[in-house]
Amino acid sequence: MYRIGNGYDVHQLQDGLIMHLGGIEIPHTKGFVAHSDGDVLIHALCDALLGALSLGDIGTHFPDTSEQFKGIDSKILLHQTYQLILRRGYRLVNADCTILAERPKLRPYIDSMRESLARVLKVDPDLISVKATTTEKLGFTGRQEGVAVYATVLLCKNEVG
Ligand code: MG
Repeated sequence: MYRIGNGYDVHQLQDGLIMHLGGIEIPHTKGFVAHSDGDVLIHALCDALLGALSLGDIGTHFPDTSEQFKGIDSKILLHQTYQLILRRGYRLVNADCTILAERPKLRPYIDSMRESLARVLKVDPDLISVKATTTEKLGFTGRQEGVAVYATVLLCKNEVG
């Protein structure tokens, strides 16, 4: 039995912050304003995983009002989210993520992000696709005010017996 999920997240960019994206640090002049480390890719991916099993969203499980999650490494959130999936007898078939960002150019970091996410999930990096596009200088992403990410996942139920 298969389940599909989608996730979407946006974080605002601000000068002088460290940019965490896809579980790695990206050299840039701006980073994300957030309660956690602001890893917008991981947040979209968590929402996709939760959505696939109708488990609510990342805010349900990790409220941004909680001190417990202040400045937290989003890889921890992804790990905990995937544990919920595994405990329900499902596993990841594949994930496909699209980052909307004008700057920096993300191509050099794509494979590192895929490997980082795969390490957290303990799956083959081949199951994790990460793509990046600009929005041709249009909208908030084009003006470099923020970065948005769309994520889609497919889960399947583990074979019984
Ligand atoms: Mg977020």
